Amino acid sequence: MKNIFVKLKNGNIEINHIREIIEEIEKNHYTFTNWFPRPGLKEKNTDFVARLYIGQSYDKNQFDLVENGWIHDHCEICFQTIGKETNEYTETSGYFDGYDWICKSCFEELVMAENIETVLKDIEKFKE
Ligand SMILES: [Zn+2]
Repeated sequence: MKNIFVKLKNGNIEINHIREIIEEIEKNHYTFTNWFPRPGLKEKNTDFVARLYIGQSYDKNQFDLVENGWIHDHCEICFQTIGKETNEYTETSGYFDGYDWICKSCFEELVMAENIETVLKDIEKFKE
């Protein structure tokens, strides 16, 4: 079966992925804010911050807790990088619900849409 991809501002995204995210998120929980770093768990003896730290228990022999160690997030819908760096690949603000981020264009064009199917119908697509 071929997948249908929708051409969004930041990339081509499979249409059912968009529908699933739109269906499961609580849009009222999101507010527009500047991106900010969060604590992360860094693998010992490496520079690799493997996980976002949200208070979960972790193996202190395996990880170090690094304040501001989580240095970027990705849009839940289109995977756009949202972080503090100002370059053409990164947005520095977005919609945040306390855990997940959604980029400005996805939120305003897709999440806030009254009828997602009407919006999706009007965006260019291709099959692959
Ligand atoms: Zn997005």
